[in-house]
Amino acid sequence: MSDSLAIGVDIGGTKIAYGLVDRQGAVHAAHRLPTLPEEGTEAVINRIVQGIEHMLTLTDAPIVGIGMGSPGQINPHTGVVYLATNLDWHNVELVQGVRQRLSRDIPVWLHNDANASAMGEMLFGAAKGCSDFLILTVGTGLGGAAISGGKLLLGGKFVAMEVGHIPVIPNGRLCRCGALGCPEMYASGTGMMAGLEDHLPHYPFSVLADKENVSTEDILAAAREGDALGVLLVDEIVNGLLAVTVPIIGLLDPLRVVVGGGLGLAAWDLLGERLTNRLHEELSQTVFEDIPVVKSEVLSSAVGAASLVWYELDNR
Ligand SMILES: [Zn+2]
Repeated sequence: MSDSLAIGVDIGGTKIAYGLVDRQGAVHAAHRLPTLPEEGTEAVINRIVQGIEHMLTLTDAPIVGIGMGSPGQINPHTGVVYLATNLDWHNVELVQGVRQRLSRDIPVWLHNDANASAMGEMLFGAAKGCSDFLILTVGTGLGGAAISGGKLLLGGKFVAMEVGHIPVIPNGRLCRCGALGCPEMYASGTGMMAGLEDHLPHYPFSVLADKENVSTEDILAAAREGDALGVLLVDEIVNGLLAVTVPIIGLLDPLRVVVGGGLGLAAWDLLGERLTNRLHEELSQTVFEDIPVVKSEVLSSAVGAASLVWYELDNR
């Protein structure tokens, strides 16, 4: 069965990414469709299946399973998405819905997208063969996942490692979730924009003060030029990540920390070393010192989703 393949499906708020992925994590074919969540749950599930059927036409190799990553609070045992705010999903029986519509009987596994990323890193990426690690996904929002003892840490309500919304920052910004001081309000695209709004009045000479519609890329470019406001906003990402990561390191004793997500990767040249140094400072003289901070290596979210299949088949 060395030539068998898995299909990975990453369901995002704007697009659905598909990949035909082999046992070594190589992508044999890729595809994407718009998610269009405003058309409703049924339409999105139909589109998910439409893309899978397209992938099935691209190969004669045996397809051993389908792995899906979706945002939100997900029960991987029942395949139900309890809540996915950006898709406006509540209690959606996603695995059942996909299997009912598929033309072939193929096993389907579903996890939260951050958990799928963690699995991808463990099988094919920056945490290959590592039994205990954390992943922080810095994007529009801030997500996270943990592998502990070689297994995904799920929690009782399947929201373990929801690091973006653990309100650990004293007197912090009001988050869109309603809590005060969530790390997402610092260490994410959303957080950077909130920080820009907060600090801009105090930095009239920043290169960002003259720009309209400032993007996260503009802020990173300003930081690279040494602009004080740009540097401050990058420091806020580092501080936000540290505030939540240090206690989690104490709880889970990971061997490394992986940083991923679109913004995490785009800002790696600014973040990587600072985060490593600050973490080493905070944890020096403790039993948790010298934990490496590394950059995510699985760049396709569909590979993370497909890795769920290979993990399940290997661990039956
Ligand atoms: Zn929050």
